[in-house]
Amino acid sequence: MSELAVSWQPPMLPVSDGRVFPVRHAWCVGRNYVEHAREMGVDPERSAPVFFSKPARALVHADQVQYPPDTGELHHEVELVVFLADGGRDLSPEQVKAAIFGYAVGVDLTRRDVQARAKAAGQPWEMSKGFDQSGPAGMIVPAGSWQPNPESAIGLSVDGDQRQSAELGQMIWTVPELLAQLSRTVTLAAGDAVFTGTPAGVSALYPGQHVRAHIEGLPELAFELVAA
Ligand code: MN
Repeated sequence: MSELAVSWQPPMLPVSDGRVFPVRHAWCVGRNYVEHAREMGVDPERSAPVFFSKPARALVHADQVQYPPDTGELHHEVELVVFLADGGRDLSPEQVKAAIFGYAVGVDLTRRDVQARAKAAGQPWEMSKGFDQSGPAGMIVPAGSWQPNPESAIGLSVDGDQRQSAELGQMIWTVPELLAQLSRTVTLAAGDAVFTGTPAGVSALYPGQHVRAHIEGLPELAFELVAA
């Protein structure tokens, strides 16, 4: 057997020590902060984590991000993103900790109008979340240099106006708990990125606006939304 003559390169994200991280896949968690679950109309007390995906090519590290087509309601969701150097199935929280390569601040861009229509119709909402450049990410910091702390501030501003502001300790499920649960369904692997949910304050973005996303201790993520 010979290998097909197709070639591809994974998207690469910068690491703070000068290396690059090849992205295999992006997993995402919905409703992991109490106040955001409430603003989406869900009782957080009775909600197990909701998992979904973005393709690897959703992840982008750039000064400019394309505003997606066919939406009038593009929402920002600032999130802690976890990057894996190892993986497996049915991981314990301790095994998850050992598999983590590093962390970055990311934004889960969401075509909220597309998502709402899909939900109302009982249809999949993949395309509200998994479009090109739907996951801008900041520079990755290795786990040896930064660890999430319950008091760490997480927030996002648009044109200098603070829209989201919370602390990582407001997550319903911790990072090791989330990834352990996710690994009951799928095999996690080196190269995986995991968006861990957003706090309250999601709102609409428009072309020409400047977004700044931050988590205390990680490099800031800043980008401009540009019309396609
Ligand atoms: Mn999200």
